[in-house]
Amino acid sequence: MIKFHPNTELLQQYVAGTLPASLSVAISAHHEMCDACAKKAAELESQAALATFDDATTSELSANELDDAMSMMMNDITADADIDEFSFESRKELTVGDRSITLPRSLSHLSMSRFVQAGKLARSRLELEEGSIRTSLLFIAPGGTIPEHTHTGFELTLLLDGHFSDEHGEYVPGDFIWLDDKHDHTPYTENGCLCLAVVNSALHFNKGLSKLLNPIGELIY
Ligand SMILES: [Zn+2]
Repeated sequence: MIKFHPNTELLQQYVAGTLPASLSVAISAHHEMCDACAKKAAELESQAALATFDDATTSELSANELDDAMSMMMNDITADADIDEFSFESRKELTVGDRSITLPRSLSHLSMSRFVQAGKLARSRLELEEGSIRTSLLFIAPGGTIPEHTHTGFELTLLLDGHFSDEHGEYVPGDFIWLDDKHDHTPYTENGCLCLAVVNSALHFNKGLSKLLNPIGELIY
């Protein structure tokens, strides 16, 4: 069962459309795997819509303003229909090692680089072009681990396939794991896993040999 979800603040920003594209995409992908959060976001959306409607009706509107409000509402409805059409797009199949993984719809239409490999890690970059925020698909082969590290910013991991564990728990597909500079962790996977990773700073390895670990850090960031 999925135990880790985006918090309410993130969901509110998602609904308001104020999140960077990478985080918005990660939350949409989580919703495809988590009915509870999809439902919560839909409720927040309708609350936000009602609040807008209340504002519009309680103030005294001129006929022109009412017209404008109506056409804005129609635009919103049309825009939503576009999104629905978009989400019917077929899901991308990914072959990594000897497994075939079906990506969530919200990731399927994004352009991805080829996988670059270092040891048991392989990374494909999602081309969202958001400056310091980098979004990647990260495949860790069976028995693979990422040495203990922290970030100076945030690190969001959405587990898409397989399982991994770290000092904080064991994760299943759909788990949405948000870490910041207060958390260290050492992910390990027994049977291999594919994650969506969104990070906004390079990794900082906590133990010696950090120079040797730099290529891994660069691969992940
Ligand atoms: Zn959820």
